[in-house]
Amino acid sequence: MHETRVALLNTFGKELARRAKSKCELCEKGGEKLSIFEVPPEPRDPDLDRCLLLCETCREQSADVKRFKSGEHWRVLVEMAWSGIPMVQVMAVRLLRRQAASQDWAREALDGLYLDEEIEVLVTKSP
Ligand SMILES: [Zn+2]
Repeated sequence: MHETRVALLNTFGKELARRAKSKCELCEKGGEKLSIFEVPPEPRDPDLDRCLLLCETCREQSADVKRFKSGEHWRVLVEMAWSGIPMVQVMAVRLLRRQAASQDWAREALDGLYLDEEIEVLVTKSP
């Protein structure tokens, strides 16, 4: 990643930490090393509203479809899929969809979910 981009992203750190209450914004684990994750596709210029503060597990598996492991770690997404923070909702729905075929609870969560059109558009922009 370009240095300027990293520096810009780091300026979001404080505000993101406040929004996230210093917990992972997907799995809500506290006391973990949290880092800034840009929800793909990355905008040309870093945008705070397109960023999440995530623990290592969530960041790694959100970033790389091949490293994604479905299962219990992600049950928390059932709740996050209703988040009022658009990017939390977008990532939660993407990750639920990745495991809908193998996890009954993920499929059920998606069945009962209502998404605004603009969120649905964002969700389908990336796997
Ligand atoms: Zn996490």
